Amino acid sequence: MEVSLDTIVAWAKRRGFAYPGSDIYGGLANAWDLGPYGVEIKRNIENAWWKAFVQERDDIIGLDSQILMNSKVWEASGHVGGFSDPLVDCKKCKSRERADKLIEDAIFAFKSKDESKVAEIEQKYGSLTPEAWTFDQQFDFLNTYQIKCPKCGKCDWTEPKKFNLMFKTEQGIVEGEGKEIYLRPETAQGIFVNFKNILDTTRSRIPFGVAQIGKAFRNEITPGNFMFRVREFYQMEIEYFVENNEEKGLAAFEAWKAASKKRWKEEIGIAEDKMRFRDHDKDELSFYSKGTCDVEYLFPRGWGELQGIAYRTDYDLTQHMKFSGKDLQYNDPYTGKRYVPHCVEPSWGLTRAILTALIDAYTEEKYTDGNGAEQTRTVARFHKNIAPVKFAIIPLLKKDAAMVEFAENLYKKLSKTYMCEFDDSGNIGKCYRRQDEIGTPYCITIDHQTMEDGTVTIRDRDSMEQKRIKTEDITL
Ligand code: ATP
Repeated sequence: MEVSLDTIVAWAKRRGFAYPGSDIYGGLANAWDLGPYGVEIKRNIENAWWKAFVQERDDIIGLDSQILMNSKVWEASGHVGGFSDPLVDCKKCKSRERADKLIEDAIFAFKSKDESKVAEIEQKYGSLTPEAWTFDQQFDFLNTYQIKCPKCGKCDWTEPKKFNLMFKTEQGIVEGEGKEIYLRPETAQGIFVNFKNILDTTRSRIPFGVAQIGKAFRNEITPGNFMFRVREFYQMEIEYFVENNEEKGLAAFEAWKAASKKRWKEEIGIAEDKMRFRDHDKDELSFYSKGTCDVEYLFPRGWGELQGIAYRTDYDLTQHMKFSGKDLQYNDPYTGKRYVPHCVEPSWGLTRAILTALIDAYTEEKYTDGNGAEQTRTVARFHKNIAPVKFAIIPLLKKDAAMVEFAENLYKKLSKTYMCEFDDSGNIGKCYRRQDEIGTPYCITIDHQTMEDGTVTIRDRDSMEQKRIKTEDITL
């Protein structure tokens, strides 16, 4: 079903998935707080991820490193000098845009209107990936195709210049005399700087991985599209270390692509036809990367990255060896060889995963009710793993003390294992509609028959079928 982002934003706010940040003060542009159901989705995605990769695999361990790190980390990683986007200013209205994103949007629009133009662009600039073009090429494109400013509609751009995306702050108690430090723009570097600690304190043997979930901050030039591009977001990242040879590195890279596909499809339940795995062309690769793949989802405005998988060779560890002066080589206990391991980095955007889960689940559908009348309902078809509430427990009559007590006891029992909701508003139709809208897979109703034989009615969110079952048989 085609759904607009405006519909998703309105539903997310109405149903408590996400609220505009600092709402009562008029908000803070492009900041979103996760509401009671949004935070459940987040926890479900991260817990399932942690379970699949850290708990169930014996070759990956977890870490939780700091957001604030020594500034040398970012010099070594290349973020201080290079972590930048091409910024263009509209000379007319002074708005700031990302040249590559303006170009991407223009190419996306040409694709549906004028395929020959798309072929012409590819021929002229060497690819359809503006990130891989030079600043001169980007500037030439903006002028040749008269790309207009989204704010004022004029085409009068400054030449692209580099804009560093890291947020700076000061550490220290005296204003102006503190040390300049950065909020981390990715979680991954915390893993590299702990590589030696991990080797010294665990029995990890190559190949092994280190996983981390946490916040990252980027001073994005053009945030927007709801939670797609925000300045404060969550990532789930793994650095998977392998021997220092390309064959092993490429094999791990392919294995991570396969594991990622399984994760998105089977465990988060994202529609397969809306996902694609896009390998970067040679000219798109960073100089140190031997392979990069973007996992993309078809968002309402077009394809967008959900996860990056990159074979980064020994670049990061080597850089940290140079800048820290510490030996970060691995001592192979079996062969006696010492070397700097290669690594593959699968990096998931958790905030974007939440957005994807919302978009993918949202459905409006028609159905015929018990009286033969046509009705419309909004139903969030979340994968059961992801649904914020698993069971809603509903006493049919809120004035019937025995029914309410039975329902309360059932809630107490089930909520030890599952996130449940107790709903004694007394209007069963309204309860079902509300639970459908937040994507609760099952509604359990306590009714007259429950009082006689202890069975309950269980209603399936997707089929709307109702069955009578014993309470002992309730499972997800
Ligand atoms: P993009 O091209 O969309 O800016 P990126 O290539 O810079 O993304 P990575 O550095 O590979 O992204 O980060 C890994 C993941 O972190 C991305 O796949 C994405 O899901 C998430 N991510 C990156 N930037 C943002 C952001 N500003 N808001 C929300 N999620 C983000």
